[in-house]
Amino acid sequence: MTDRQLPTFDYDLFVIGAGSGGVRASRKTAALGKKVAVAEASALGGTCVNLGCVPKKLFVYASEYPEFAQQAKGFGIDMEVTGRDWVRLLENKNQEISRLNGIYQSLLDNAGVELIRGHARLVDEHRVEVNGKEYSAEKILLAVGGRPYRPTFPGVEYTLTSDDMFFLDELPNRLMVIGSGYIAVEFAGIMNGLGVSTWLAYRANQVLRGFDDDIRAFVGQEIAKKGVRTLPEHQIESVTKLPSGTYSVAFTGQDPVEVDAVLMCTGREANVEHLGLDKVGLSLNEKGLIDVNGFFQTRCPSVYALGDLIEGPALTPVAIAEAMRFVSQQYENSQTEMDYSDIPTAVFSQPPIGTVGLTEAEAKAQYSDVKVYRSEFKAMKHTLSGINERTLMKLIVDQQSDRVLGAHMVGEHAGEIMQGIAIAIKAGATKAQFDATIGIHPTAAEEFTTLS
Ligand code: NDP
Repeated sequence: MTDRQLPTFDYDLFVIGAGSGGVRASRKTAALGKKVAVAEASALGGTCVNLGCVPKKLFVYASEYPEFAQQAKGFGIDMEVTGRDWVRLLENKNQEISRLNGIYQSLLDNAGVELIRGHARLVDEHRVEVNGKEYSAEKILLAVGGRPYRPTFPGVEYTLTSDDMFFLDELPNRLMVIGSGYIAVEFAGIMNGLGVSTWLAYRANQVLRGFDDDIRAFVGQEIAKKGVRTLPEHQIESVTKLPSGTYSVAFTGQDPVEVDAVLMCTGREANVEHLGLDKVGLSLNEKGLIDVNGFFQTRCPSVYALGDLIEGPALTPVAIAEAMRFVSQQYENSQTEMDYSDIPTAVFSQPPIGTVGLTEAEAKAQYSDVKVYRSEFKAMKHTLSGINERTLMKLIVDQQSDRVLGAHMVGEHAGEIMQGIAIAIKAGATKAQFDATIGIHPTAAEEFTTLS
């Protein structure tokens, strides 16, 4: 007898949210023969596909071209940038995102997942309502992700969020970016590269809290060299609309700055408004996230959550890995919990950052004998490009075991390079093994095999 003959519920699994985590969990569960529905009110693919990773990276590519033209001269190639068509970029981006939305639709269709369009609300621990219709499920998975968060201050209503940046009618001449996390430094680079006069104002003294301190200081300098006006130790106080239609941004104890637009990149919050968490006795913890155990189970035993709703890096590949773990645990009898160690990440700043493992400060707090290997240099390309860009690489090593605990880089292709380094670190590679690896010449990455 299969569990299909015990039709107590409409579905084995009802997933709320068809983003990276929700789509993966629903189609993998359906592939195991379970009856699955996923509810989504917006475009398929969630933040990553529609308002995050994908369109952001396309914008990063666009913003690099003007500097390429400048760099080309030193190589004997004369190129001139004769125009910038933001609307064409948006149209092409939208077309690509529609294509990806279609792929997500086919993935769900082919897996036999029922897609229910509309905003889903929890009714009780086994029931969900969408567009006035109720559905029951043995298990409910919350995968609704996050949305931009803006602190409250006078004039906040005049400000933009990253969501808006993907649909701006036109580019501002002058932009103030507030914050210094991933989204802030990425958008500052994009807008600066596209020719917008860009300020980056943040309350800390360095960008990118949580990253290796050396990397933070170095990338801050590199961003400034590219032309972004960095304003450390600037806490936003208010935004005032001036009669000319521009905005004056006031900071505590600092001079105000007049710009044409203000972009708030001050973090993200769980997208749980009207989800009905209270109907199943759930609420957000002090970090604004949903508490789960190692099986993604909330305090309501039939309700699970993953992705940006729970603690852990808010990264697409993490949400996907969590979804895979969830499916194995629930439907393949796995007792193995998600491994959150050594998760590599890249910040697509200009130049980009790639990082995996412990920062120097974290390593020194956890290990008694840490050796730091560091190399800073001008990449070969920039010997002719005329661009004064530098690269930084760091390896953090536990002297006792010789294990490489962390690798960090600022420089061209840092994300691409760090993916390979992450495999070595995940496999427990030692510094001696890095040294025994033959470099690929001439590359910047080979430096990781010769650090001394
Ligand atoms: P982050 O948490 O990375 O950064 C938030 C920023 O907002 C910090 O600089 C923080 O300052 C600042 N901030 C928060 N509250 C205030 C306030 N009241 N006043 C002034 N400044 C404030 O958030 P993001 O929104 O940039 O990104 C969210 C997450 O999305 C990232 O952590 C990452 O996991 C993911 N992401 C990943 C990307 C990638 O993989 N490339 C790209 C984009 C996002 P302070 O440091 O002082 O606290």
